[in-house]
Amino acid sequence: MSNEGRIYRVAGPVVTAVGISPRMYDVVYVGKERLMGEVIKIVGDKSIIQVYEDTSGVKPGEPVTNTSRPLVVELGPGLLHSVYDGIQRPLVALREKMGDFILRGVTAPGLDRKKKWEFNPVVKSGDVVTSGQVLGTVMEGTMLHKILVPVDLSGKVEEIKTGSFTVEETIAVIDGKKITMMQKWPVRVPRPVKEKHQPDVPLITGMRILDTMFPLAKGGASAIPGGFGTGKTVTQQQLAKWSDAEIVVYIGCGERGNEMTEVLTEFPALEDPKTGNPLMNRTVLIANTSNMPVAAREASVYTGMTIAEYFRDMGYNVALMADSTSRWAEAMREISSRLEEMPGEEGYPAYLAGRLSEFYERACRAKTLCDGEGSISVIGAVSPPGGDISEPVSQNTLRIVRVFWALDTKLRERRHFPAINWLTSYTLYDKQLRNWYIENVGEGFPVLREWAMQTLQKESELQEIVQLVGSDALPDSQKITLEVSKMIREIFLQQNAYDPVDTYCPIPRQFMMLKLIKKFSDLAQKALSAGATVEKIVGIPARQRFIRSKYEETIDNELVAIDADFDDQFKNIGA
Ligand code: ADP
Ligand code: MG
Repeated sequence: MSNEGRIYRVAGPVVTAVGISPRMYDVVYVGKERLMGEVIKIVGDKSIIQVYEDTSGVKPGEPVTNTSRPLVVELGPGLLHSVYDGIQRPLVALREKMGDFILRGVTAPGLDRKKKWEFNPVVKSGDVVTSGQVLGTVMEGTMLHKILVPVDLSGKVEEIKTGSFTVEETIAVIDGKKITMMQKWPVRVPRPVKEKHQPDVPLITGMRILDTMFPLAKGGASAIPGGFGTGKTVTQQQLAKWSDAEIVVYIGCGERGNEMTEVLTEFPALEDPKTGNPLMNRTVLIANTSNMPVAAREASVYTGMTIAEYFRDMGYNVALMADSTSRWAEAMREISSRLEEMPGEEGYPAYLAGRLSEFYERACRAKTLCDGEGSISVIGAVSPPGGDISEPVSQNTLRIVRVFWALDTKLRERRHFPAINWLTSYTLYDKQLRNWYIENVGEGFPVLREWAMQTLQKESELQEIVQLVGSDALPDSQKITLEVSKMIREIFLQQNAYDPVDTYCPIPRQFMMLKLIKKFSDLAQKALSAGATVEKIVGIPARQRFIRSKYEETIDNELVAIDADFDDQFKNIGA
């Protein structure tokens, strides 16, 4: 088997080589500058390589070296706080080396080789350990980073150390093998778990429309499609900041013109609202700026997913965001067209659906090899051209994921934020999560949620009538229904990500707000029967107080006061 060959042809990011005999997905170095690439197709004696760096100027005849290794990520202390490109090159270190424009053929390791970490073992010499078990821990900032026995290794601990080590120094010897804190894992292979669990616990986000109406289960996958400026990035960043996942992996995938400087300043400036520290302390950021080669973008989702699995294996809940999967799919399309493959729908390769499902299926809640419980929840933004989700990336994604948060340009134009359409969005986890809500929020919660959804549905039916004959033609009880659904929309569903109080709404408060709207509805119908007018009912002062309350620090006290106000004020109008 030969490892040295030469370039036969160059077509943008796709290079054909002869003279090497690699396996699929072997990493190769291409050209005089040794650009990194991966073998993605083998036809007879020709190896077709996607190259992760700009290939302009690279010519046929130049050398090609096969490493006989797959594309791997380095896993270990130092991941958190890092900003990587799609093949785990640390962008900050690279930028120090060469400024805003990454030169070619430059490499820097994913994990810092010089930094020392304080390793505290939890096993002792003579113990027998198994694959994935915790060997010891390292404090990485405020996060406890667990060092696990490498997958597929079991045996007797012959030596175990305590103290300060780099990621390349031996910290243990197991069954004759030297173990370091760094492990490598091929990005395209899912890491194993002991067993997969039903996703029956919600990922709590503090966004009312998500937690109450369309919850995502921990270990589940959701898609958030929407046209330009509808709120994909704001929603994903809200989830990164607030959701009850300990670790965030954020894959910025060619959205906007985001240049390197912007990526390196914008996300790192986000604050972790739970601690006041930078959100980066528990985040790994993968950044594919739009000026980076497309092949690296193709690889980036696998790099991000593998890192997410590594933290899941320690027993953490991980939230993985990809913004946007459309840019990833476009990278696949570009590479496929260079391969002169038979195009499928709209030029995307026929394997688009397969790749999307392989990616989303790596979301899971599982018993880990170390007997902990971890999860990866995936939130994929989709940016269909013109916001029209009939296109292949949206459609294929919706066939796989079980939660759909439909961003809506019309809502954005009305400045209804988050611009998530309550009539077209859905969650298929509601049955599985029902018990969790009953046990953790309140017995009446599912019924209340159902009532709110039905009221909104009713509103949309009534609106059709109103458009034909005007609202005066409606009976009073239906006028009240419209007022109540307006309250659901304006008080409950609308939520300002930039308001210090409204940005995060704890679940008990969500329940209370919805209970109050239902209470208003019940009292209003009763008042009508007792002869009160619609004007009187709508005009009760507590309703205004309710609308304002969500921006007030004292909101929880306010809600209790409004509850009492409702009783008093409805009595005054004869209910
Ligand atoms: P996209 O990523 O879909 O192109 P963004 O997430 O950047 O869109 O959102 C565009 C703008 O919409 C934001 O800059 C903000 O002004 C507004 N917006 C979106 N969601 C919210 C929200 N939940 N609260 C307040 N404003 C929002
Ligand atoms: Mg965006």
